[in-house]
Amino acid sequence: MIDINNLQRENIKNLRPYSTARDEYKGQASVFLDANENSFGSPLGPSDQNYNRYPDPLQLDLKDAISRIKGVPIENTFLGNGSDEAIDLLFRAFCEPGKDNVVLLPPTYGMYEVSANINNVEARKVNLLPGFQLDLEKIAEAIDAHTKLIFICSPNNPTGNSIIRTDIETVLANFNGLVVIDEAYINYAKQHTFIKELTEYPNLVVLQTFSKAWGLAALRLGMAFAARPVIDILNKVKPPYNINQSTQDIALKAIENIAQVNEWIRITVEEREKLSQDLVQLPMVRKVHPSDANFILVEVDEALKTYNALVEQGIITRDRSKVTLCEGCLRFTIGTVKENETLLEALKTLQTA
Ligand SMILES: *Cc1c(COP(=O)(O)O)cnc(C)c1O
Repeated sequence: MIDINNLQRENIKNLRPYSTARDEYKGQASVFLDANENSFGSPLGPSDQNYNRYPDPLQLDLKDAISRIKGVPIENTFLGNGSDEAIDLLFRAFCEPGKDNVVLLPPTYGMYEVSANINNVEARKVNLLPGFQLDLEKIAEAIDAHTKLIFICSPNNPTGNSIIRTDIETVLANFNGLVVIDEAYINYAKQHTFIKELTEYPNLVVLQTFSKAWGLAALRLGMAFAARPVIDILNKVKPPYNINQSTQDIALKAIENIAQVNEWIRITVEEREKLSQDLVQLPMVRKVHPSDANFILVEVDEALKTYNALVEQGIITRDRSKVTLCEGCLRFTIGTVKENETLLEALKTLQTA
């Protein structure tokens, strides 16, 4: 049985975390003179009364609302300043710089490698197989006693496909470190989330975000779900007030409008299928990779030339043609119905030009 507390860095194991004023007194009172705040208020005025006070370090009201939509208990939930903060904290809490390593599975989200480099942690890369699935044999070979984290992005960015569930389960069952499943695009997927498996696997970390389906990329709010020991370690290492009051207020308000989010998800999935079918008809398109996300990876005859021609027409896509296993590919985010039509028409005119 894996011992999460032994997995953390020695200095983190021994760390006494910063204790905030709100940690030391949590009750109700009429006079708060403990945190050197401005007792008069904030210049925002009485309608935003609480902005002179430090926010709840553990964001319990927001976690409670998230818990009600996700079905994950509050004590298994961590909130970060974007998923990117959770990714960085996992490195800082579990990976000894210059000694430990992590396994990454390219082509995948670039932030894992950047975080590894910032933290001076070796990133061992095992390419996905054709079809962008896990190479379980090579992954097993890459792991040693110093491997602390494996990042599995599913649906994967930039390829769009979900990773075969039983393959992920194989890694979860056999790896003695943390398996981080990045589900940034899970709302668009046919594949089910892994948050229901948290009670099965003490080494499972599921990342989700408010940046994509929730339409709140500017807010910077990411979620990590895991067993209690992992969450406790992340809370110990995080900056005390990592989620500011306006983010907590706005996210609570957004959650009330979940019906709108679900409607956008439905349209996006419909548009993804439609755009995929339309693109396949174009002679310049060699392959439309199947997608479970809100974007599609498309192999075209001349990627860079097509990318530049689209830019000329004011349409910005992502050139992924220099990424491992994505040669010749552009990545198209699914836009509004009108935007997708504009993209398709532009590609058709390029075809005849
Ligand atoms: C967009 C994206 C995220 C989101 O990161 P935030 O910091 O929450 O905005 C995370 N993982 C992947 C794979 C992404 O594509």
